[in-house]
Amino acid sequence: MHYFEYGQVLGHEGVGEVISVGSKVPADFKGQVFGWGIQLNVLFLFNESNGQAWGMCDLCLEGQEIYCPKRQIQSLHLTERGTFASHYLVNYRFLFRIPEGMDPAYVAPLMGAGATVFSALYNYDVRPSETVAVVGLGRVGHLGVSFLNSWGYRVILLSTSIQKKNDAINLGATDFVLATGDWTPPLFDTVDTLLMVANIKPDKWDQYISILKPRGKIILVTAGTDVLGIPVSPSLPLIYLIYSTHQ
Ligand SMILES: [Zn+2]
Repeated sequence: MHYFEYGQVLGHEGVGEVISVGSKVPADFKGQVFGWGIQLNVLFLFNESNGQAWGMCDLCLEGQEIYCPKRQIQSLHLTERGTFASHYLVNYRFLFRIPEGMDPAYVAPLMGAGATVFSALYNYDVRPSETVAVVGLGRVGHLGVSFLNSWGYRVILLSTSIQKKNDAINLGATDFVLATGDWTPPLFDTVDTLLMVANIKPDKWDQYISILKPRGKIILVTAGTDVLGIPVSPSLPLIYLIYSTHQ
């Protein structure tokens, strides 16, 4: 639930059948099942009079429309269009064709939480030979563990709650580490990528950084507003890149 306001229609993870299309939409969209996420449009993507693309920025041309300053997303710009409604209007460019036979209940979460963690792993050069430590097993985290397991990674789930252990292992985590107290020594210098999908307190950064290999990556997929507070001294020779993503 994002940016709740009176009159807003909630829901930004959609799946459904296309029942009506505009004149510029490819004909084979009608009658097919598609999924969609939080992005509904990019302003000025097409000249309505001739159907030609215009006004596209470098981000749009690279397929990164979600970062475009002219993007329109459900929770910020088009709050009346939520996926809990019976019908939905979206630019066809932001629909994803769903394979036949998939249960819509499993498709919808992939359009939001799934897309968020997928894009982080896909865009930021996480390679199959790597060991990835996932911090947190919320809905984004559990999909991250599932994806990484399916792709053949070694996945270490770090959590401050032992109650997450069974779920983590069942989802495909190779190891579960209870990140409380002095938990880091067995993991020193073993992790290529730290995927942060939970907020951690800044005073714990030293521990998390200590498990990274030289040139390790930190990928932030969090909604926290705290100051990052990453200590420079142990990080400087170690961290290769820090990325963040929001969709
Ligand atoms: Zn753009």
